[in-house]
Amino acid sequence: MTDAIDYQEIFREIVSGFTDADDRGDVAAYIPELGKIDPRKLGIHLTTVEQIHYSFGDSDEKFSIQSIAKVLSLTLALKILGKDIWTRVGVEPSGSAFNSLVQLEYEKGIPRNPFINAGAIVVCDILVSCLTDPKVELLEFIRETSGIPTIDYCSTVAESEKRMGFRNIALVNFMKDFGNIHNDADLVLDLYFHLCSIEMSCKEIVQAFLFLAADGINPVTKTTVINSQRSKRINSLMQMCGFYDEAGEFAFRVGLPGKSGVGGGIVAVHPGKFCIAVWSPKLNENGNSHKGMKVLEEVTTKTKFSIF
Ligand code: GLN
Repeated sequence: MTDAIDYQEIFREIVSGFTDADDRGDVAAYIPELGKIDPRKLGIHLTTVEQIHYSFGDSDEKFSIQSIAKVLSLTLALKILGKDIWTRVGVEPSGSAFNSLVQLEYEKGIPRNPFINAGAIVVCDILVSCLTDPKVELLEFIRETSGIPTIDYCSTVAESEKRMGFRNIALVNFMKDFGNIHNDADLVLDLYFHLCSIEMSCKEIVQAFLFLAADGINPVTKTTVINSQRSKRINSLMQMCGFYDEAGEFAFRVGLPGKSGVGGGIVAVHPGKFCIAVWSPKLNENGNSHKGMKVLEEVTTKTKFSIF
C-alpha cells in the first residue's frame, strides 16, 4: 500500500515555487507542428498502483508524446520477438544526443539502445517485419493495453516530421547499409513518424504506463501487458537510456526510471508505487522538458520516493 501522501498539495507547492529562472528553454520547433504549442502549458498526473489519482493543471489535455511512445513500441516488439531483439539493438546508455549518427559508424549499425532514434527505428523495422498492418496493430496494442480506445496518431504531426526528418532518413539509410534494416526505409520511417505522433494526455500516459509500476500488469484493465522480468528490463532501460545524454542527470536529480519526448512530456515510474507524467513544452538543450525535470526532482525530493 502506498503511504498516504497528498501529492496534489505537493504539486501545488512545487508550481507556486517556480520563479522566472525556471521558465527556460524552447519548444521543439525543428518539427514545425510542435512549434505551434502554447509554451505555458503545464500538466501533472500521478496514479498510484491502488489507482488513486492526483492531477494538476493541463493534465487532461492531449499533446504529442513523441519519444515516450518508444517504450510502447519496444514493449510490443519484446512481446513478439522476445530476447532476439537484442541482436539488433543494444542495452547500453548512449551518452549522445537522441538523433546522433556518430556511434552507429563505430558499432556497425547496431544502435546503443531502443530509445535513441536509431534504436526506435530498428524496433519499427522489427514490427514492420512481424505485423501484417503495423500502424493499425501497434495502435490496437496501445489502445488495448492502456484500456483507452480513443488513443490515436496525429497525421499532421507525422507529416510535419516526415517533411523535416532529414536526420531520421539518414539514420535509417545508414543502418540499412549495415544490414540492420530489413524493410523498405520509407515504410519503416512511416511507422516511426506515426509512433512519435501519438497524442495522449498526462492522465492517459499514466494509465498506459502503470503496468511498469505493477510487474507488467495494468491495474486498471487487469491485463498482463508483459511478464514481470520484461517489465523490470524496460524500467532498467528507461533508467539508463530514457533521457539520452541526460540520463545520468535525470537519475541524479530524480532517481526514477523515466522517458521523455520532444513534445515536452516526461513519464516516470516508481515500481510498486506509482506512475507520474508531466507536460511542459519548453525543452532544455538535450531535448528534455526543463520544467518537467524540475517538477519530478521536487516530487521525489519532497516525498523521498525515489528508487534510491
Ligand atoms: N520524433 C522525434 C524525432 O525523431 C522524437 C525525438 C524525441 O522525442 N526525443 O526527432
